[in-house]
Amino acid sequence: MAKLEFTYGSMGSSKTALALMRKFALNESGFNVLLLKPSTDNRDGSVIIKSRVGIEAEARTYDTHDRILVKFMDEILDCDCVIVDEVQFSTKTQIIELKKIAEEFNKPVYTYGLRTDFQLRFFEGSEELFKLADVVNGLTKKCECGNEAIVNARYDDNGIIYEGEQVLLGSNDKYKSLCYSCYKKGRLNGRRN
Ligand SMILES: [Zn+2]
Repeated sequence: MAKLEFTYGSMGSSKTALALMRKFALNESGFNVLLLKPSTDNRDGSVIIKSRVGIEAEARTYDTHDRILVKFMDEILDCDCVIVDEVQFSTKTQIIELKKIAEEFNKPVYTYGLRTDFQLRFFEGSEELFKLADVVNGLTKKCECGNEAIVNARYDDNGIIYEGEQVLLGSNDKYKSLCYSCYKKGRLNGRRN
């Protein structure tokens, strides 16, 4: 039985870069990799995944209504392994499908994503992965104060935002990785004001 692996980390902890490097390394060794990504804008098809360190690759996308085992059955049968980026946006049902790809189809599934949202609540996909993954890896990133950053704090010009919808797409312009202490105390710059 192949393994389902979950690598989580806060924003800016190089998850996408690691996902893409793993794909390139597997390709170099002659393996056929199916690269997937949940679609957060509900548009169908493919998307180019870019990491902040410059590597990129094309991924197939699925939305919350898609059955992965139906939509990508041919590709799953053809591939040697599956890599999923931004896996937190998957549904519980889709994580169970990824588990099935590892368990019943005997193809390793490597997933990368956020553990929790800007309010420290689980994303549905991440919560299910903590239950079902055979291997769980945590990536670290430092808050500017020196502690481990575990919160993807959402912010605007007025400071840290503590209420709102779970999904609001954005990058460094809307989110910052902070430690729990800086998050709770509203220290966006990681230092005492
Ligand atoms: Zn801090």
